[in-house]
Amino acid sequence: MSNKVIIVGSGNAALSAGIASLEKGSKVTIYEKADKKMSGGNTKYTAGAMRFSYESGDQLIGLLQNPNDERIKDTDFGSYTKEKFKSDLLSFNDGRPLSWEQDILVSKSLETIQWLSSHNVKFEPIYSRQSFVKDGKHIFWGGLTLAAENEGVGLFNQELAAFLSLGGKIFYESPVTNLLLNGNKVTGIYVGDNKIEADAVILASGGFEANDNLRKSFIGDDWSKAKVRGTPHNTGDGLRMALEIGAIKHGLYEGCHATPMDLHMKNYGGLDLEPKERKNYRKICYFLGIMINAKGHRFLDEGKNFRNYTYAQYGRKVLEQPGHFAWQIFDSKVFDLLYEEYRFHDAHFVESKSIDELIEKMDGIDKIETRKTIEEYNKAVDLTTSFDPTTLDGKSTKGLEIKKSNWAQRIDKGPFKAFPVTGGITFTYGGLKINSKGSVLNKNNKPISGLFACGELVGSVFFNGYPGGSGLTSGAVFGRIAGYGASE
Ligand SMILES: Cc1cc2nc3c(=O)[nH]c(=O)nc-3n(C[C@H](O)[C@H](O)[C@H](O)COP(=O)(O)OP(=O)(O)OC[C@H]3O[C@@H](n4cnc5c(N)ncnc54)[C@H](O)[C@@H]3O)c2cc1C
Repeated sequence: MSNKVIIVGSGNAALSAGIASLEKGSKVTIYEKADKKMSGGNTKYTAGAMRFSYESGDQLIGLLQNPNDERIKDTDFGSYTKEKFKSDLLSFNDGRPLSWEQDILVSKSLETIQWLSSHNVKFEPIYSRQSFVKDGKHIFWGGLTLAAENEGVGLFNQELAAFLSLGGKIFYESPVTNLLLNGNKVTGIYVGDNKIEADAVILASGGFEANDNLRKSFIGDDWSKAKVRGTPHNTGDGLRMALEIGAIKHGLYEGCHATPMDLHMKNYGGLDLEPKERKNYRKICYFLGIMINAKGHRFLDEGKNFRNYTYAQYGRKVLEQPGHFAWQIFDSKVFDLLYEEYRFHDAHFVESKSIDELIEKMDGIDKIETRKTIEEYNKAVDLTTSFDPTTLDGKSTKGLEIKKSNWAQRIDKGPFKAFPVTGGITFTYGGLKINSKGSVLNKNNKPISGLFACGELVGSVFFNGYPGGSGLTSGAVFGRIAGYGASE
């Protein structure tokens, strides 16, 4: 008789687990809290970009939706070795060694993407954001090369199609509320009063980013005020259910991925908006100007590094400021360089010909201190080095308590613009501990019989940020592992 597997959630991790379990002959049912439109969790909010190791472009061709794309013959995909992927992860670890989970993520990344592709999940090169043209050739940089066809929604649709075609079932509007136990073994779930039995349960219900109280208690008081960038449904239910029956906490509970966002955006990601619109609430061009808090002070090095290496930490820094907000200030010298998100129809900002008038329009700040801070900053800017946003130009400030290390230009050429921002949480890092089969471990490091986990719920995969595209790959890698494990 075939194994009966229940999966909680319907994002990328859940569907990867489902496909893997079905492959092994299990009967698989997904229970999803959201309605059909809102199913798919944070996965649907992504750009669908997936990071994985590869030795050469030849390994990518078979993964593509359109391998005959005219551009491919003039494309240099380079390589992205396992060593490079590991060192990229390490650069966010704050000195921690590579975790076991990170090692698995890297070593299984390529085979997992190839496996998804064998289930008709197809990809396209990210020409627009991850390559540049040199001597007529498209040259990819940075290791992030492919995204699922039609971004996160496309990834979800393709994975769901594969899951359903293999015979998987899905129930929407079915929030799993508790685990069913027989002694120490998990033997099913409760959806409200409804008891549903199974041989194995896979938790794929995301992190606790959309739960104000859990954010406050695990990450800190400031975090009850954070905007949530993705789904409202990832409220830590799976985590709670597992911890209640003795699972051990694993990973950085006080950490999370958060970025500077428009202070006046609606809470949650707005799945009803076009992906392009949704993305435009982000505000990450702080490196072209300065950020000022309610006291009128700068509070971080806006030019510490390229923005990919700072944006996931700076959301937190903004949220930690008095009133949980800051203003980003730019002068007209950089207006052309600001990303599209600053010209978005629903971008909130104030504008003025003079800096004094601008400061008058900026709500909630100490105006005298702000003026002083801008004057001091302008005086400290090194005028001997040239501004070059394409490199770490070393054009810095001298003598300020908080330095701006690169791209420091005076804010002196009107008109001026200021954008109010806060911190928006993407997802949480604290989760559960699993073994190589995806089984959830208890406080004695022993598997809890019948219980598996994957996706955002797996702890110790990320610590202080992540190289873009590794979240989805992690979901697929650990989803596939849990799916196979649950079917055994
Ligand atoms: C705005 C945004 C942009 C991002 N961009 C990228 C990117 O480009 N690349 C990348 O790699 N990562 C990105 N990420 C991170 C990425 O979304 C996550 O790492 C990944 O999608 C998590 O997958 P998951 O399957 O674990 O969770 P999810 O996709 O969030 O799925 C969890 C599911 O569980 C359901 N659920 C919750 N509780 C219950 C319950 N009690 N019962 C039943 N169902 C429940 C939820 O409704 C949801 O459908 C982004 C995240 C956001 C928010």
